[in-house]
Amino acid sequence: MPRIAVGGIHTECSTSSPALMHEEDFHVLRGPDLLGAAYFDFLPREGVEPVPLLHARAVPGGPVARATYDAFKAEFLDRLARALPLDGVYLAMHGAMHVAGMEDAEGDWIAAVRAVVGPDLPIATSYDLHGNVTQRIVDAIDIFSAYRTAPHIDVRETMRAAWEMLLRRLSGDERPGVVWVPVPLLLPGERSSTEDEPARSLYAALPEFDRRPGVWKADLMIGYVWADEPRATAAAVVTGTDLTATRAAAEEIAARFWAARDDFRFGPVTGPLAEMLDRAAASATAPVILADSGDNPTGGGVGDRADVLAALIARDWKGALIAGITDAPAVAACFAAGEGADLALRIGATLDPAGVSITTQARVLRLDDPGTEPERQAVVAIGGVTLVLAARRRPYHGIADFTRLGLDPKGARLLVVKSGYLSPELAPIANPGLMALTDGSVNQDIANLPNHRRRLRRLPYDPDAAFAPKGLASARFIR
Ligand SMILES: [Zn+2]
Repeated sequence: MPRIAVGGIHTECSTSSPALMHEEDFHVLRGPDLLGAAYFDFLPREGVEPVPLLHARAVPGGPVARATYDAFKAEFLDRLARALPLDGVYLAMHGAMHVAGMEDAEGDWIAAVRAVVGPDLPIATSYDLHGNVTQRIVDAIDIFSAYRTAPHIDVRETMRAAWEMLLRRLSGDERPGVVWVPVPLLLPGERSSTEDEPARSLYAALPEFDRRPGVWKADLMIGYVWADEPRATAAAVVTGTDLTATRAAAEEIAARFWAARDDFRFGPVTGPLAEMLDRAAASATAPVILADSGDNPTGGGVGDRADVLAALIARDWKGALIAGITDAPAVAACFAAGEGADLALRIGATLDPAGVSITTQARVLRLDDPGTEPERQAVVAIGGVTLVLAARRRPYHGIADFTRLGLDPKGARLLVVKSGYLSPELAPIANPGLMALTDGSVNQDIANLPNHRRRLRRLPYDPDAAFAPKGLASARFIR
């Protein structure tokens, strides 16, 4: 029975965020807990032995502290070495981690895995399509699989595809390898949602490439734009057994993507905050769901900014629900005061002092204490605005996030969430959805992002550049 090690590290980091990630920011699965987790419940138990190592996953944020990364990596490699002999390795990665003081963190992790297992073992990886790929990564792996949807509704299928390609590799004589084609283009996810053209058609065409002889899986990486690092790039990445066919597929996907470069635009109605609030005020339908895009924690934003709250208070807005703002001191103050209490609160800019904060009177409507201090939440009323405060960084993108607090997202006239494109649960109830181009660590003003380390002419792209797709094969690809 083949023994396949399973684990990895999965997060996305904006280099504009000052909120460094530490061990406590990660949800860590070790050993048997990994196999018992819903995230990995696609792994079969018969005919193959998954060997769980360590999987660390965090809500996107700022760079990972070097000591945190080093500790996770050392533990992972130790568990890997002790699990030998193995027949393969499956790594469940995101691809856009940035470790303070380090370049190409996933390249470092995956190359270290390769060094432990030696040249003969196949390594399969799954990625978020917002991850960044490098030659170092491609040179260390045999199999690659990435999401084909954004918003991501094919996480499980993507992970399973990587796993099944690994089983296919182990069960026969076929020897897959990876070819990639970097494309000099860097788009935010909000302009490349697969719900909208042209990404919709580009991604819908990928299965056709999978069916070509000698090709196993063809993927298109949007890359991650908010990390100012040299590797940031879009790319086509294809796994196959026939080098010529695999390279041709990768080059064709890259060429199609490049040809569509002028057509990417925001899906929802998008504009400055004041204009979006004017539209919300004039809306005859509800709930208007407004995305506060610059501070979206699921894109790497800090999630502690009070820009929209301040704007709604200034407009004396009635009937808005904001979910939520991360502010541990404000949550602690609400817990100290108790439900029903009135108190003065300073809200915002607790993690990023350069952000926006306000001081205002609030009434505590509800306290939620799941057991640990970082999980605490408070619901407060500020005039006509209901605000959710969270002790830790987190999104409010699922209906259950609201119902837990006795809130009804459908019943709000205006619901404000920190988000880019709306999540699969909120998008269907938005009536309409609006996106505000607010400030923050994941600011959508891509052309004006600090750009000291990314390769030139990628933001979003140089309109005058000539681009000839060139497939770069893994050093492991059998020629
Ligand atoms: Zn993503």
